[in-house]
Amino acid sequence: MEIPLARPDITQAEIDAVVAVLNTPWLSLGPTGPEFERRFADLCGRQYAAAMSSGTAALHLCLRAMGIGQGDEVITTPFSFIASSNCILFEGARPVFVDINPETWNIDETLIESAITDRTKAILAVDVFGQPARFDVIGEIAGRRGLRVVEDSCEALGAKLAGRPAGSLGDVGVFGFYPNKQITTGEGGMMVTDDQALTRLVISMRNQGRDDQGGWLAHHRLGYNYRLSDINSALGLAQLERLEEILSRRDRAATMYRTRLADEPRVRLQRIEPDVQMSWFVMVVCLDDGYTQEDRDRILRALNDRGIMCSNYFTPIHRQPFYVETFGYKGGEFPVCEALAMRTVALPFFGSMTESMVDHVCETLRSVL
Ligand SMILES: *Cc1c(COP(=O)(O)O)cnc(C)c1O
Repeated sequence: MEIPLARPDITQAEIDAVVAVLNTPWLSLGPTGPEFERRFADLCGRQYAAAMSSGTAALHLCLRAMGIGQGDEVITTPFSFIASSNCILFEGARPVFVDINPETWNIDETLIESAITDRTKAILAVDVFGQPARFDVIGEIAGRRGLRVVEDSCEALGAKLAGRPAGSLGDVGVFGFYPNKQITTGEGGMMVTDDQALTRLVISMRNQGRDDQGGWLAHHRLGYNYRLSDINSALGLAQLERLEEILSRRDRAATMYRTRLADEPRVRLQRIEPDVQMSWFVMVVCLDDGYTQEDRDRILRALNDRGIMCSNYFTPIHRQPFYVETFGYKGGEFPVCEALAMRTVALPFFGSMTESMVDHVCETLRSVL
């Protein structure tokens, strides 16, 4: 039995929704994109949403629309998918990493203040693996120091912090819809915010710098093609219709894992804060401190050899080859992040996992530990 790392949750309803768009003349800029945006903004308790071709594109335009550029610094986490830091580099700004909390694996909000300089413009925190970062504390610091707050909620659709939805916790929230995310559009992303001026700017820049005046061939500013087509939006809209079901299936799978692994002394689980409602993105366990990175890599290989697809979520961003070459990181700069990342194992995780699949993964994991 081969068990994939992730698997999208697609039903006939999604297939029908995509086919319905294919039967209209509006394959890209039709009525479905705006409807997807409205539904998404509502879901996040936000006034505005702008769909884009990827989560990375949405992160890029939201930083650009905030005017973050050359010489500016953005405080962020090294324990994330590369895009949350690359978007800062796109505009010539510098990511300033801050170490993480060893239990929750999110940016350590108590270390943020001492990383702020005259050049700091924003804090970009990530809702790691579906758990919102401490945006209550981050928002308080940002308010006092005059900084913008970007919530990279690409892994956290449907999560909540003290009852407030992921995506609503900063000045802007950003989501991604690659097929391993909670919902997918094939490729796609979304920015949500209450800032009307920022939304207008982002909407213009995603569409070649066009405005609502001037028509198709008038370009008012430097723009990109970061549009999301109606074909993709139809898939997203149909997934949103099923969001509750999708999230509860994922939650059930996560609970099965966590009950089976709770008493396993050789692995640690991500601590979920009491005021967090989790939206599970992946099931990552951290091996006990006695394991080395070589042990972890051997365990990953052993699981993959046995048909259990797994991965090392994530190599710290400052240890990625491009960052080592560009910034000269040597390792040791963010010890909590590094100690975690060298021992993580992301296990197969998706909503249609059965009890016997989870049993099989957990038993195999125990046998190779
Ligand atoms: C998935 C993800 C993104 C966006 O990825 P895309 O593939 O560009 O949609 C950004 N940040 C984080 C933390 C992610 O997990």
